[in-house]
Amino acid sequence: MPEPAELPVVVIGAGPVGLAAAAHLVDRGLEPLVLEAGPAAGAAVREWAHVRLFSTWAELTDPAAEKLLAPTGWVRPDAGTYPTGGDWVERYLRPLADALGGRGRTGARGTGVARAGRGRVVDADREAQPFAVHVEGAGGREERVYARAVIDASGFNIMYFTAAALVALALAAYLAAASEKKYSAKIAAERRNGR
Ligand SMILES: Cc1cc2nc3c(=O)[nH]c(=O)nc-3n(C[C@H](O)[C@H](O)[C@H](O)COP(=O)(O)OP(=O)(O)OC[C@H]3O[C@@H](n4cnc5c(N)ncnc54)[C@H](O)[C@@H]3O)c2cc1C
Repeated sequence: MPEPAELPVVVIGAGPVGLAAAAHLVDRGLEPLVLEAGPAAGAAVREWAHVRLFSTWAELTDPAAEKLLAPTGWVRPDAGTYPTGGDWVERYLRPLADALGGRGRTGARGTGVARAGRGRVVDADREAQPFAVHVEGAGGREERVYARAVIDASGFNIMYFTAAALVALALAAYLAAASEKKYSAKIAAERRNGR
């Protein structure tokens, strides 16, 4: 097993945050390895490619990423304009992933992170051990990737959030209706009794 300092920093997720994190690592002389579950960088943003963002380009690029992109001939989009999700991918995220080159893998889903060789039974010297990132690749193939550190940039799934919000709203509406039924029956009974 290599020493932790010889291992890459694994970044889970090649969205805007993961790619920017990787660019910052490169800027600091550290080696990133970006694992992306989807078929390409920016997989989550690609799902809403047709939607126009409410932020301008000035707010959507990262300085370390721009530094990495500069030698590739990348042209910074007009700062005051509003891209679609598709523009964000094509004009920034995809070129950034290309600039990171072999420091990224697609179709690689991080499924767990642990200290290598340490668990509930063997715990000694945990801090000195590298991280073992459990990765599910094509066809469900499982492997472990060792890392000196791990950055979770796997984002937040708007679909799960929306589903959770709808369930909470439905529950609140049910409780409100149940409470109204209970108290209207009580008020009606009090009126009948002349109170
Ligand atoms: C319709 C819409 C409009 C928006 N407009 C704006 C805007 O105008 N301005 C703004 O600032 N923000 C906007 N946002 C929010 C913005 O898209 C998010 O804040 C941003 O994408 C977060 O970046 P991220 O890298 O953290 O996560 P994501 O973009 O979600 O990227 C996470 C990446 O990690 C990958 N991944 C997930 N799990 C794993 C795993 N286990 N292993 C490996 N890879 C994994 C995903 O496939 C994905 O590529 C908008 C969002 C939506 C949905």
